[in-house]
Amino acid sequence: MIKNLFMHLHTVNKHRWYVFKLSIRAGIPFRGLIHDLSKYSPSEFIESVKYFDGKVSPIKKSKMDNGYSKAWLHHKGRNKHHFEYWYDFNSPISVPVIPFKYFCELICDNIAASMTYSGKDYKPENNLRYFNNRKDLKYINEDIKKAIQDVYRQLIDNGLKKTINKGNLKKTYNKYIK
Ligand SMILES: [Zn+2]
Repeated sequence: MIKNLFMHLHTVNKHRWYVFKLSIRAGIPFRGLIHDLSKYSPSEFIESVKYFDGKVSPIKKSKMDNGYSKAWLHHKGRNKHHFEYWYDFNSPISVPVIPFKYFCELICDNIAASMTYSGKDYKPENNLRYFNNRKDLKYINEDIKKAIQDVYRQLIDNGLKKTINKGNLKKTYNKYIK
């Protein structure tokens, strides 16, 4: 249990460090600084230590065991870089376009998560593949989905430097979001 606690803490810190470095490139350093802070709250932290695995995320593990993850429900309700934060199936637009700064944070989060979990096996191809395999793809706002896929394709073709910077992200976002 103590070992899991430190391992989980290490994973969260490492992930946040990668997000922070990417967020500077993306021009959203403040978002990077406060990214995922709710992971240190008891509601998220305790469950994640209990279900710590190292390979699979503790949230996924908890969902497999219980059918839900209280940590995730807490997390998505507070973190605007998740699509799920914005969903409202009783609103005229149930899956709205997310604002630009959270779009950038979402991309930094995805790349950082991929880097954290794959370590030295990380390849830019992972991001597009992982995104296209999402089970909830049909619920993601159509324009946001296209913008994200475009960014991940650029990541493969042009590399990190040319893709993850404020100018390019803004240009790509504006290409799809009118
Ligand atoms: Zn998050």
